Amino acid sequence: MTTKWVYTLDELDEAEASVDGDWDRVRGLLGGKGANLGEMNRLGVPVPPGFTITTEACNAYLAGGGELPTGLWEQALAALRTMEEKTGKRFGDPTNPLLVSCRSGAKFSMPGMMDTVLDIGLNDEVTEGMIKLTGNEHFGFDSYRRLIQMFGTVVLGVRDEPFEDVLASHRERRGVRSDADLTGDDLRSIVGAFKDIVRRHARIEFPSDAEEQLRMATLAVFDSWNGKRARDYRDAAHIPHDLGTGVNVITMVYGNLGEGSATGVAMSRNATTGENALEGDYLTNAQGEDVVAGTRATKPLQQLKTEMREIYIQFEGIARRLERHYRDMQDMEFTVERGKLWILQTRTGKRTAQAAVRIAVELADEGLISRKEAVLRVEPEQIEFFLHPQFSTESKAGHTVIARGLNVSPGAATGVVAFDPDLAERWAKESKREVLLVRPETKPDDVHGMLAAEGILTSSGGRTSHAALVARQFGKPAVVGASALCIDLVARLMTVNDTEVHEGEWISIDGTTGEVFIGKLDTVVPDMDDEWLERLMGWADEFRRLGVRANADNPADAELARKYGAEGIGLCRTEHMFFEPERLPTVQRMITTQVLAERREAVDALLPFQREDFAGLFRAMDGLPVIIRLLDPPLHEFLPGFEELTRELTDLQIRVTNARTLEEVEEITTKLSETQAMLDKVAALRESNPMLGLRGVRLGILIPELTRMQVRAIFEAACEVTREGVTAVPEIMIPLTSHVNELRRQREVLEVEARKVMAERGIEVKYQFGTMVEVPRAALTADQIAEYAEFLSFGTNDLTQMTFAMSRDDAESGFLMRYLADGILPANPFATLDEDGVGKLMRLAVSEARKTRPDIETGVCGEHGGDPASIAICDALDLDYVSCSPYRVPIARLSAAQSALRRSQGT
Ligand code: ADP
Ligand code: MG
Ligand code: MG
Repeated sequence: MTTKWVYTLDELDEAEASVDGDWDRVRGLLGGKGANLGEMNRLGVPVPPGFTITTEACNAYLAGGGELPTGLWEQALAALRTMEEKTGKRFGDPTNPLLVSCRSGAKFSMPGMMDTVLDIGLNDEVTEGMIKLTGNEHFGFDSYRRLIQMFGTVVLGVRDEPFEDVLASHRERRGVRSDADLTGDDLRSIVGAFKDIVRRHARIEFPSDAEEQLRMATLAVFDSWNGKRARDYRDAAHIPHDLGTGVNVITMVYGNLGEGSATGVAMSRNATTGENALEGDYLTNAQGEDVVAGTRATKPLQQLKTEMREIYIQFEGIARRLERHYRDMQDMEFTVERGKLWILQTRTGKRTAQAAVRIAVELADEGLISRKEAVLRVEPEQIEFFLHPQFSTESKAGHTVIARGLNVSPGAATGVVAFDPDLAERWAKESKREVLLVRPETKPDDVHGMLAAEGILTSSGGRTSHAALVARQFGKPAVVGASALCIDLVARLMTVNDTEVHEGEWISIDGTTGEVFIGKLDTVVPDMDDEWLERLMGWADEFRRLGVRANADNPADAELARKYGAEGIGLCRTEHMFFEPERLPTVQRMITTQVLAERREAVDALLPFQREDFAGLFRAMDGLPVIIRLLDPPLHEFLPGFEELTRELTDLQIRVTNARTLEEVEEITTKLSETQAMLDKVAALRESNPMLGLRGVRLGILIPELTRMQVRAIFEAACEVTREGVTAVPEIMIPLTSHVNELRRQREVLEVEARKVMAERGIEVKYQFGTMVEVPRAALTADQIAEYAEFLSFGTNDLTQMTFAMSRDDAESGFLMRYLADGILPANPFATLDEDGVGKLMRLAVSEARKTRPDIETGVCGEHGGDPASIAICDALDLDYVSCSPYRVPIARLSAAQSALRRSQGT
């Protein structure tokens, strides 16, 4: 049996049956465009007849080194005959010609990656026939010149400029602005010129045989799958390279048959805000790409209501129906041919993060999807855009708006102007500059520059232009169609009224309002007060099991975290409190002195500072647990560097020999002896491997005054705020434990101090002692550790470093890139938890610890706690909570909910 390579749009049932009715596989087989065309046809939506060549055919062709697989072309021609029967027209027949479009379509929509060729089947005779049939010479030659131009550029690889030059010179001669205003005569001579261009640039005669045209176009679609820009896009969007593309051959319908005809694109909801209102652009007397190309000013879809009322109503109905069928917002293409509406494409619409949230919530409200589905529909990373910086009001007031465009992709962006994508990429990657890509319009070839840029600004194009689509998809702020901008790509200069902006100068754009500013504006982080987001997060909280805490070292961060929904502090690092300038000298005295009394005095001087720090945290987190980690870093971090001191010393020695006056000598000598003394102390504390040296719990064991002071400060603060009516829930965490005896020792000393403070104040505070698990030995002996720990917090950063024996800094700035590129490691283990190794240690630790203490509290602090994939692993490990930076708390809440939902669905 020969493989079925071709399915007509009427054969969707067959295609479906061949993959056991699995819609995802139908899309894989036919590509998204083909599958959806078939589906619309089945639903009774008016779609022109056509057929789809499968992605399998594409893969077979590419694997076969450019040979069409056996039987494919025969099947394609048979399907073409079926189209002829349906339409009553014949391919290549001048008396009643069938024309077709040849369109690529992979499983995932890749905007503009592989261009469509329209009007296939035209040649000199067929064009004359078309003119006779329609009585419209303009239409006939316009279609023909489009075919030669598209075929020339897309199939034969000729540049677009020579074609556009010919068009431009004809427009100029005629004194018109639009190609639609050229006469039939103009277009006839343009056709001749276009054929010459093909002859000169592609060194072949434009093929006049209809079937030959279709065959060449089909092969070109297949080949384009492996083109550079397609590969780049797939890399950026994480689409696999082995899916292949389908080819759709569709009967042409004509939007360019005069003012009663039109073509347009529309979204069933607003793709920027998510509002439930049809939006789109269209053009009368136009075909295909005219709308998205940005070359002619489009009309807003609402205008169709008055221009073609019946059509608008019919379209609105179809849009509703498609939305209900696909249960999601749709992005549709339509053409009106002399008063008859045709739908040429529908797909899930790309949208901003804001729109994604609002649409998911409203679809659930409308009963089209469940709340669970709504929660699963929003990517956790999209939540980040709600916290994206916006321009501060003051900064906006201080800068003038030089232009306004369409606010197609929200967010604020500043950068230096780059007028071409290569330069944008180079500046962003090599010079680490913030760049804004500024172009008259963008094309698929520009995507690498768009990705590298902070934002995108164009002078033409509408809401559905390439720039808008790509920007929304990748969450880049964008303003398009800012028509006041005159962009001169040759002079590398943009002029707005009297203002000139040169390449490399700073501008700012606000994708939320569409404003363009000169200069670099300041940004602020907004609140998360979006009513739909609030509801979605509320649903997420109902579905998740895993708790979410935040890492915060000060009251301001704690308040922020709480506002974003944190249920406690998972990690407060106390060392930052030691670095504050007015405290550092005391800290240094405490560290370097050999005299016990002096050390006590220094420690006591630090106590009030620490107490205030902790009191602030407890107040902010009233009623919620706060994990405070005792001092962790090696002591030398608080002292001047050894090398620095040595250099200073040499410097002083030179200065003393050059000194002129006695006072000078005396002054420098005093300095000298001070520096020497500090150097001696630093040298005494110097370790050859400080990260594995005297740090963490080891510090507390050697200098018990230090941790005792910290515990006193914690409990004094807790007692103090309790008196104010605040509920403090301190959890004292001991860092870097590797042996249970370390923990036992510290805990004995510290608990005595805690009780002492509470007795002094006559107040009982509920508290817990626990430890970080960040050394493999602690994980392995968690059963013993749990005797003395009421909670365990996995410090996955250090645990990863020590499990891999890889220092994060050295790895990330060095060999890790190579490891990832070569596939030695599947992902950066510092970004996404290594489930097989580190995860296994964690699993073991949890189960061992629970043997000793069944209700032991477990969690993760460290950056993994804010990473969706790692959160899913923590959920599966049955930890109690993850803790992450305040800004990632909402992301963690949503990720935890999605993990719970996926686990309950078994996916
Ligand atoms: P893209 O993926 O770039 O949108 P499409 O295959 O959808 O490519 O086609 C490009 C343009 O041509 C669209 O505006 C589409 O509506 C139009 N088009 C495609 N096929 C036909 C056809 N058979 N008749 C009329 N217009 C068509
Ligand atoms: Mg399309
Ligand atoms: Mg650590």
